[in-house]
Amino acid sequence: MTENAEKAGGGYWGKILHVNLTSGEITPETLDDPFYRKYLGGVGIGAKVLWDRMKPGADPLGPDNILGFTTGLLTDTGSLFTGRFTVVAKSPASGGWGDANCGGYFSPALKRCGVDALFFRGKSLKPVYLFMDQNTVELKGAGHLWDLDTVKTEDTLREMHGKRAQVACIGPAGEKLSLMAGISTDRGRLAARGGLGAVMGSKNLKAVVAAGTRRVAVADKAAVKALSGAFRKRLDRGKYIERFLGDTLFGMVGRMTRPGLFYMRQPAFLWRKMLKKFGTAALTALSAEGGDSPIKNWGGSGLRNFSLEKSQKIGAESVVQFEEKKYGCYSCPLRCGGIVGIQQGPHVIKEMHKPEYETLCAFGSLLLNDDIFSIFHINDLVNRGGMDSISCGGVVAFAIECFEEGILTLEDTGGLELRWGNSEAIVQLVEGIIRREGLGDLLADGVKRAAERIGRGSEKFAVHCGGVEAPMHDPRFDPGIMVSYVCEPTPGRHTIASFQYLDLQELHKKFSRAAKASLITFRKKRFDPRGKGEQLSIESFYKMLVDCAGACFFGTQVGAELPLCEWMNAATGWDLTNDDYLVIAERVHQLRHAFNVREGLNPIRDFRPHGRLHGDPPQKEGPARNVTVDVDAIGKSYYEAMHWDFITGQADRAHLKKLGLEDVIQQLHHGTES
Ligand code: SF4
Repeated sequence: MTENAEKAGGGYWGKILHVNLTSGEITPETLDDPFYRKYLGGVGIGAKVLWDRMKPGADPLGPDNILGFTTGLLTDTGSLFTGRFTVVAKSPASGGWGDANCGGYFSPALKRCGVDALFFRGKSLKPVYLFMDQNTVELKGAGHLWDLDTVKTEDTLREMHGKRAQVACIGPAGEKLSLMAGISTDRGRLAARGGLGAVMGSKNLKAVVAAGTRRVAVADKAAVKALSGAFRKRLDRGKYIERFLGDTLFGMVGRMTRPGLFYMRQPAFLWRKMLKKFGTAALTALSAEGGDSPIKNWGGSGLRNFSLEKSQKIGAESVVQFEEKKYGCYSCPLRCGGIVGIQQGPHVIKEMHKPEYETLCAFGSLLLNDDIFSIFHINDLVNRGGMDSISCGGVVAFAIECFEEGILTLEDTGGLELRWGNSEAIVQLVEGIIRREGLGDLLADGVKRAAERIGRGSEKFAVHCGGVEAPMHDPRFDPGIMVSYVCEPTPGRHTIASFQYLDLQELHKKFSRAAKASLITFRKKRFDPRGKGEQLSIESFYKMLVDCAGACFFGTQVGAELPLCEWMNAATGWDLTNDDYLVIAERVHQLRHAFNVREGLNPIRDFRPHGRLHGDPPQKEGPARNVTVDVDAIGKSYYEAMHWDFITGQADRAHLKKLGLEDVIQQLHHGTES
């Protein structure tokens, strides 16, 4: 970073802001073109700033933690699928690197303020929010917003600052420092994972309001537009096949995956159709039966505990019948979201985002709950509370199993009969967790902390990786996702690498290093870790590219080859090859990992998965029958590809040097660069 930044070629402003909430000081910093060529944008800016400025050992909920809101390099340039922002901070859930991203419309509004990112440090004495447009940046009192849920907070701020204002805020969960708190935008879409909402709450920062109108320069607008037009055409390709064969194939895939006989390569066009029509809810029934969804706190199976009839009651058709309109994030041509209105059941909901697959599963099959109305209600509660639905479902599953096993009693639960599938008790428990009342207070920091406080053998039921509850995808179904859960800087993350993503993304068509990465993942091969680490590492790097660009992961999976690198060249005026971009993405990935190593964490040791996640002991029936995933074997393969030492987690010095990460060598290898 230099004081004398070169003029931005395009795609970025070359400016970030540092906000000290203790002193109220707001300081701009200029970044030059070489910086962007090295870290791109989004999570890349976040990784570099936190690496440079965060003291190792900082308390995640203390003033020294730095909370960043970053926009993507491609956001607002005319490219598609590129409206996501990434929040970064040290995670209070894992104690290491934290990032979480979200779509909606906040990111372009922030970028239109003339900055690429904002970083908060310190702690305000009183609740505040930051207002920003292209001319003004100001901290304002938020006393009147404290205690409001995320939707009311946003509505109030829009009334004050106009409809154009976009808001990222916390709800009661973040204010009460729940380690499952996320950051909400667009009335209930969350950057959910890793407890970053608690970091915001610890700083007394209720919201960031962005109301910018300035568009960033784009080096070659016509080229960006042409790439977007061609991509749209590719996305439409095969729409007639989709229309006429899609439903038939959809049913066939359901029947074929249901017995779990083999993992089938899913055609991207079918996934595109499913997303368009149902959103991620499309996965619910298939996954419960096929073995991808966890059942009964990861201890059951669809075959034995949650029939197809039950999973269909909380599945795609059950959700979309309440859809009143489609919803799409900024610059999205697919629009997988939807707004639903619920007039039936005990809780009328005027409008909310339809529940995603993760929520349907976390409060459905994971708890043996087939009452769709209770899940709608909980979806509204967690979105308004500003709470991660994956973690919240995980901690409810833990509490139910503790109750069923007699570890928690009616006295502990305040009279709640916490039984599998008792939807009324589940709703009441979620309310208590968000308010941090009674047992809810004990559970509000996730399963790891709850088990530590309860003791009495409850840790047997605390399913997590490194303090973060596992997402709703079973590594016994797709062992590739195990590296996302235990080797990534953000443990328990399902949106980075898996065998299914590799199949869908066809990275061998984009990167020469991935030329051999096309997988045939039939059952007997997917449990063989040999060579898979290399494939999965390229997948991890690619996800960094996606997050640096501010792109949506789904855009990379729909069979139309998202031209991320081409868009970045056109927007910035650079002339980098796809392989050059992959090196940059690896640099960002290695920097996030180095952050963890500096904190004393080695993922394979410290983010160890619960036995149920890898089949220890193996299940006796269902799709995961007799399946045990060798965590160390797949971890070793991944570590080798990453050039990480298995015992210490340290990256190889020569490799870091090749990536231009001399500052990491200086700090982690005590200056010995050779
Ligand atoms: S595919 Fe869905 S999540 Fe992704 S940008 Fe579009 S609407 Fe948003």
